[in-house]
Amino acid sequence: MKPHLEVLITEEQIAQRVKEMASEIRAEVGPEPLILLCVLKGAFPFLADLSRALDGDVRVDFVQTSSYAGGRSSSGAVRIVKDHEIDITGHHVVIVEDIVDTGLTLAYLRELLSTRQPKSLRVASFLSKPEAHQHENLADFIGFEIPKKFVVGYGLDDGELYRNLPYVAVLSESAP
Ligand code: 5GP
Repeated sequence: MKPHLEVLITEEQIAQRVKEMASEIRAEVGPEPLILLCVLKGAFPFLADLSRALDGDVRVDFVQTSSYAGGRSSSGAVRIVKDHEIDITGHHVVIVEDIVDTGLTLAYLRELLSTRQPKSLRVASFLSKPEAHQHENLADFIGFEIPKKFVVGYGLDDGELYRNLPYVAVLSESAP
């Protein structure tokens, strides 16, 4: 079986939508300084593009959770494997996530980070699979809603491959 990639969201669509999202975030948060917390590894291209589209003072930091352990379905358990270093207390924070699937990762991160008393806490997710959500109201800003299919590209991987694709594609196996 050979992997087959079917483009779902083009590079041009991504570039346009990420700029729109930056405007939506500033319109809601206002002009005050902002901390972007990127959820590794999948959100790194989104963070790079979103941070450069945002005006005003922006800091970036990184968190990493483990839940999928390299597979294609969630193990259901989330834990932090790398915490942020900047103190978020009293600051406007936006969690920058690649995709909301079941929502377990974000529900966990939202709860954990809100105990650290940020001035505000919001979530910007590049993709969302509404059909798979097990939690309500997870993301404040969503780039694209997609069907419940396994996608790769623009940071999203399959066994660490495809993160460098500039577009998003549905990954399937096709006969050789
Ligand atoms: P959740 O906790 O919402 O179920 O899963 C979130 C994480 O699962 C994402 O940050 C991402 O790493 C991974 N994930 C969920 N759906 C997909 C997908 O379609 N493709 C890839 N490559 N990863 C996914």
